Amino acid sequence: MKAVDPAWYHKLYGVRKPRAVYYKTDFIDYALMLLLSAGVMGVLYGFRHGLTWLGIAVCVVELVAFAIRHGVELRVPLILRKPQDVLYMFLYKLQNLRPLYFAGLGLLLVENAVIALTPGLPHYVEWTRIGALGLFYLHFLWITVYRTVILVAHLRERKLVHEVLMQTPWKRVIHEDTNIVFEMVHAYCTGLVTHIVLIAPWYFVITHAHYSLLFLVAAAALDLVIHVRWMETTHNSWFYRDHWLGHNSELEFVWLHGTHHDAIPSGMIAVAGNGILEGCLRHSIGTPAPFYSPLAAFFVYMYEVKNDIDLHQYIPGVFPKFGKRMVQVTQHSTHHYGQLEPYGMAMKLDLPDVPDTFKNQFKWMTKEITNSIHLDEELNGFRWDNPTHRQTRSLYEKYQPTPKKKAAAPPSEAVAPPGDTNPAALSDGALPSDAMAGFGQLPAIVNHEPESVL
Ligand SMILES: [Zn+2]
Ligand SMILES: [Zn+2]
Repeated sequence: MKAVDPAWYHKLYGVRKPRAVYYKTDFIDYALMLLLSAGVMGVLYGFRHGLTWLGIAVCVVELVAFAIRHGVELRVPLILRKPQDVLYMFLYKLQNLRPLYFAGLGLLLVENAVIALTPGLPHYVEWTRIGALGLFYLHFLWITVYRTVILVAHLRERKLVHEVLMQTPWKRVIHEDTNIVFEMVHAYCTGLVTHIVLIAPWYFVITHAHYSLLFLVAAAALDLVIHVRWMETTHNSWFYRDHWLGHNSELEFVWLHGTHHDAIPSGMIAVAGNGILEGCLRHSIGTPAPFYSPLAAFFVYMYEVKNDIDLHQYIPGVFPKFGKRMVQVTQHSTHHYGQLEPYGMAMKLDLPDVPDTFKNQFKWMTKEITNSIHLDEELNGFRWDNPTHRQTRSLYEKYQPTPKKKAAAPPSEAVAPPGDTNPAALSDGALPSDAMAGFGQLPAIVNHEPESVL
C-alpha cells in the first residue's frame, strides 16, 4: 500500500469549518443553490425539457421542506461572504482530476475526430444518438421506479422507520410527533432531484457528441476497461479527497454535499453519494463516466446508482434490506449516523470474525476496494471498532433478524448467504438498555447552530 500524504488529502486554501448538518442561517445559500441547480438543468437539458420542469418542481418542494424542517433566518449568504471559496472549489476539483478521467474524455474526443474525418464511412450517428437517448431514459425510469418502490415500502413500514430513527442521532430531528411521512417524501424528493441533476452532464454529452455504430462495441469495451481500472486504483482516493472537502469546506457542504446528509438515511436519498448540485460537478470535472460510449455509460450508471441506493439503506428491516454481513464490513453507515469519518468507501473485509465463504465473494476485487478503509485509518486515525458501528449493528440485529435455520441442517449448510448473517458472529441481537448510549459522543444532527461546530 502506498504511503498517503495528509497534506495533500486535507489541503484547504480557506478556513476549515467542518459541517455535517444545515442550520436555518443557511436558508439563503440553500435557496440560491436550488436556483443554480434549476439553471444547470435548464442549460444541460433545455428549459423546455420535461426533466427540467420536474426537477424545478421538486426544487420548490425541497425549499419549502428546508423552511419547515430547519426554519428560516436571513443572513448574508456564505457565497457573498466568502466568494473566493467558489474559485477554490473549482481549483480543488481540477487538482483532483486523475489520468483515467482524461482517458475517458480522450477516447470520446478521438472517436468524434475520427467520425469527423471519415464522413464517407457508415457511422449512423443519428441512430446511435437515438439508441443512447433510449438507454438514458431507460436508466432514469428504471431507477425512479425502484426509488418509488422503496418509498412505498417505507410508507408501509412508517412506524418501524420512526422507531428505529428514534434510537439514533436522528432523534434530534425525528421527535415523537414528527410527521415521518413528510420526512420520507423529503428523502424521496432529495434522491429524485439529485438523480436528475447528476445525469444532466451525461444527457448533454449524448446530445452534443457523436457515436459511431462501427465503434460501438469496441468503445464500450475500452470504456469498461477504464472504469474497472478507475474502481480498482483511483475511486477511493478521488472520493476521499472530494468527500473530505464536502464536509470541511463550509461552502462545499452548504452548496454541494449537504443535501446528501439532510435526509433520513434511507436508500431513497442515494445517487452515488452526491448532493443535489454536487453530482453535476463530480460528473463533469471528476469521474470519466459521462464520456463513456452509450452501452458502457448505461451499464456504469445503472450499476453505480442502483448499488448506491442499496448501500444507503441504513434503516434495518425495510426494503431494500442491507445485509448484516455488509453492515459488518462497511462503515458508510457510521458517516450517516452523525460521525464525520470515514470519508472514503469505508470497506474492511479482512476482519477475524468474517467467514471465508463471505470473503471469497469479493476475491475479484482489489485491496484498494476491500480494504478501502485504510485511507481513513492512515489520514484521520479512524478506528474500525467504534460505538456508532456497534450500535448500528445492534439495530440490524434487532430489526432484521436472521430467519431461523432448520434444526436438522448439517453444519456445512449453516454458511451465511451473501450479505446475511453468520450465527457465530452475529447471534447476539440484544440492544443495550439505552440504545443511544453508543451514539452519545457524536456531533449533533441539530436544527440550530451550536457555538462551535463539532
Ligand atoms: Zn458525507
Ligand atoms: Zn452517503
